[in-house]
Amino acid sequence: MKFLRSLLPLVTLSIFISAGPLAAQRGKGLHHRALLVDTHNDCLSAQTLAGRDLAASLKEGHSDYYRFKKGGVDVQFFSVFTGETARTSQGYYHDAIEEIDSLNRLVLRHPDKFNFATSYKEVKRRAHRRRVVAMIGVEGGHMIESDLKKVDSLAARGMRYLTLTWNNSTEWATSARDESGAGVLLTQKGLSEFGKTVVRRLNELGVIVDLSHVGEQTFYDALAVTTKPVLLTHSSVWSICPVFRNAKDEQLLALKKNGGVICVNFYPAFISKEFVAQQRYWNGPGKDSVFALWAPSDTAKARAQWQTAMAAALDNARPGIADVANHIDHVVKLIGIDHVGIGADFDGIGFVPRGLEDVSSYPRLTEELLRRGYSNSDIRKILGKNVLRVVKANCP
Ligand SMILES: [Zn+2]
Repeated sequence: MKFLRSLLPLVTLSIFISAGPLAAQRGKGLHHRALLVDTHNDCLSAQTLAGRDLAASLKEGHSDYYRFKKGGVDVQFFSVFTGETARTSQGYYHDAIEEIDSLNRLVLRHPDKFNFATSYKEVKRRAHRRRVVAMIGVEGGHMIESDLKKVDSLAARGMRYLTLTWNNSTEWATSARDESGAGVLLTQKGLSEFGKTVVRRLNELGVIVDLSHVGEQTFYDALAVTTKPVLLTHSSVWSICPVFRNAKDEQLLALKKNGGVICVNFYPAFISKEFVAQQRYWNGPGKDSVFALWAPSDTAKARAQWQTAMAAALDNARPGIADVANHIDHVVKLIGIDHVGIGADFDGIGFVPRGLEDVSSYPRLTEELLRRGYSNSDIRKILGKNVLRVVKANCP
């Protein structure tokens, strides 16, 4: 007995030591067995259009085939994006087609690494340990150029979600930036009659309605029209980080009623209000007075030093994995486990959370969720099952 008692501290110690690595191992196992669906990645505009081959191992950016697979990514929605000012003189729609073609070429050249899917059935058939299933999301209603025929054409080319607006409003839908007063002055908010027709058409075509980036009025107008569950493909929680790109609690409750899913965005400025405060301090409207305080003379050298100091301060203010998990927790507590997913926004964000540096780092989030007591089945829902339910309801 005495002998056993003397062993007890050793046994306890060894359990304590192995709990960390064991949890990490269990997390990795679960992570790689689960189907991971990320609903938003900008690597087409950030990497492919810059001439880089996503099938190679890249030093630049957040994504490439090898990092996708290290991160356990099974299905990736590739964002098709062109800004408020079109990339080429041929305009928004042309830019979208060009970008879809760049993904087509990638899939054609590397069928051993990337496959296309345009329906739930295809996702299930093509998901494979060694391949990434590519789906297409078009980020911004401006790319349809107010023409319903272009919605049909984009759907025929594989578009499986359309984000009704990006930061810029269209003639038929107002954006979160503009509705919040941070952009252009609006005479009307929400969806026009044409906007409602677009939503109905998307439902008919099996294209998911994406309500990230849209203003609150557009959000509620779209929910009133859609007959299918929607996604917020890359948004986080307003009550933790109150910025116009995030969803308020009332919106989350409406999303639950619709059966939709919010996919948490990793961008530090959508995750942490402390990071936002730092960004505003260094780079906000009072930028010049901050600079004047900081640098006694406005010389090129002082500007360069200031830029370096700003970059270091922002880097230091980056939130961590736990902060991202807090957003997931909030959604789960408010509207349940069936309505949250992941839409990291990799390659579309200038800063990343500490520990979630690129697409290879998703397993760490799974470890964090395990540590918080989520069950294996809950984690499978967060990683992909919830989004796949929405994919199935829209495009079986
Ligand atoms: Zn976006």
